[in-house]
Amino acid sequence: MFNKILIANRGEIAVRIIRACRELGIKTVAIYSTADKTALHAQIADEAVCVGEAPSAKSYLDTRAIISACEATGAQAIHPGYGFLSENHAFVRMCGVCGIKWIGPSPEAMEAMGDKANAKQTVMKAGVPVVPGSDGVVKSFDEAREIAAKIGYPVMVKASAGGGGRGIRFVDEEGALEAAMQSAKQDALAFFGNGDVYVEKFIGNPKHIEIQLLADEFGNVIHLGERDCSTQRRNQKLIEESPSPVIDTALRQKMGEAAVKVAQSCGYANAGTIEFLLGEKGDFYFMEMNARIQVEHPVTEMVTGIDLIKAQIRIAAGEKLPWTQEDIKMSGHVIECRINAEDASNNFRPSPGKIANLHFPGGPGVRIDSAMYQGYTIPPYYDSMIAKVIVRGDTRPEAIQKMRVALAEFLMDGQGVCANIDFQLDILEDKTFLDGQYDIGFLTRRMSE
Ligand code: ADP
Ligand code: ADP
Ligand code: MG
Repeated sequence: MFNKILIANRGEIAVRIIRACRELGIKTVAIYSTADKTALHAQIADEAVCVGEAPSAKSYLDTRAIISACEATGAQAIHPGYGFLSENHAFVRMCGVCGIKWIGPSPEAMEAMGDKANAKQTVMKAGVPVVPGSDGVVKSFDEAREIAAKIGYPVMVKASAGGGGRGIRFVDEEGALEAAMQSAKQDALAFFGNGDVYVEKFIGNPKHIEIQLLADEFGNVIHLGERDCSTQRRNQKLIEESPSPVIDTALRQKMGEAAVKVAQSCGYANAGTIEFLLGEKGDFYFMEMNARIQVEHPVTEMVTGIDLIKAQIRIAAGEKLPWTQEDIKMSGHVIECRINAEDASNNFRPSPGKIANLHFPGGPGVRIDSAMYQGYTIPPYYDSMIAKVIVRGDTRPEAIQKMRVALAEFLMDGQGVCANIDFQLDILEDKTFLDGQYDIGFLTRRMSE
């Protein structure tokens, strides 16, 4: 087992990883930017190293500074969390050269799955259904037009390097294709430094269902059931739950087996997630693989009782999976609400600032993952997600009620600081949500009503 791990991230996920390391008796090194000097992760780690200035490009994405921090502190491994460098296979290679273990998949597996257009081709060969569309990246507008005509409108133009819902454009007719392609390319270049895009059919009213995987370095792969992440605004997840209200044991097994096949097709090890679109008739299509831990991992942790971060560390340390597929049992119902520092009444504008008063809910079956504390100032430079509230009930109605109680108790204020708590509470009263029959378009439709 490792003696010391460096956490190449910030915020709630850095805190989550530090806690897991502590439980395993592993020393931790935090990295922080000058804007995060007083951040919780920098305070609770055993050591903390400043890696640069506030903008991520000058700190959390500065690969040389991070490698130096490892060497200076003697950290043997890096846990990347999500976002930042977590899907950067070039960085993983660099770590390998420096003798630093990556707590995640191999750079080869990451490369195979990281490029979304590429990944679709690999997955198709493994016999898993993918959304119909271009055979890889589209090189010209003419090519995109031909493919779109063949698969039929509406279509989606998507950044091949995309993530976090960015670089995606909906196109309902040929006249809008060229402009959509250009703007998706622009986004892709700005966010991911890679302007490649691909075209796929727009699946009407699907659910976003993802399967959590764990794989060790000896070829054992298991799945831990699904998360229903269809409650989205602008392709970004807001609420996740498990089990999905529309998935039965047979479909879970089918999707789970498909997900395992995807992981095997690229020799995947460590934790990963396969995202699928699920059609109204139970048809499902591979969308992408997230080769890292995900924001919503606590949902699976609370429904299966398995600590995914500890599992990631043990797998990276060369341990075999202690479970087979038969050992994985889902019990009860878990819901997560993402709390963002955003002003819902002002077009969800980010609202960073100093938190004057803070109170977290609690009680049985309530978990808060956050890096906030009273007097903390949310910096304007990073993601606006500031907390996750996760609850577990025996049934879905019980979990929903528990979440209502928890959110109603959640208190957070400060000059100019807003949170989307009332917005979340509204969703928890929505009939479509309560029915469980909601799809990825339901929030958008609801908001335009
Ligand atoms: P999840 O599936 O874990 O919810 P998201 O796609 O919502 O993942 O992204 C999680 C976080 O990682 C978000 O903060 C998002 O902005 C960031 N992120 C995702 N993909 C990328 C990427 N390719 N480059 C940079 N940041 C990313
Ligand atoms: P990201 O890497 O940014 O997470 P995804 O490929 O996972 O991008 O897509 C993000 C979201 O966009 C999905 O969760 C889904 O809601 C929507 N989406 C993506 N592709 C399609 C499609 N072909 N048809 C309908 N909706 C889609
Ligand atoms: Mg996705």
